[in-house]
Amino acid sequence: MSIILCACSSGKTYAECCQPFHLGTICPRTPEQLMRSRYSAYTLNLVDYLWETTHPLKRYLHSKADIESWAKANHWLRLEIVQAFNAVVEFKAFYQQGLRQFVHHERSTFKKEVGKWYYFTGEHFH
Ligand SMILES: [Zn+2]
Repeated sequence: MSIILCACSSGKTYAECCQPFHLGTICPRTPEQLMRSRYSAYTLNLVDYLWETTHPLKRYLHSKADIESWAKANHWLRLEIVQAFNAVVEFKAFYQQGLRQFVHHERSTFKKEVGKWYYFTGEHFH
């Protein structure tokens, strides 16, 4: 049996890391867990998961088509959590387009509604 490591760079297997979140078996308990599961959802093109974990008040800013094209346009390399505190997670997502490598550096804010964390807003660094 092969062991599939989770794409979020946690070093854990997918089954022990983000898969239960993607399957809806359990909900992420911290913003960092949600952030990691959203990154790995991009690598797996799980558009519905990304949509459903976006805060309902912020969904108008996104579309499933945009999420899907961004997920598919990039070859996702790895995730680095810079810092996580309270409802904030700063991270770097490394990805490749063709032969060029890029870093998406963002400080995301999450919001809890009825016991469930959602992605609320993101501040990008350039
Ligand atoms: Zn993971």
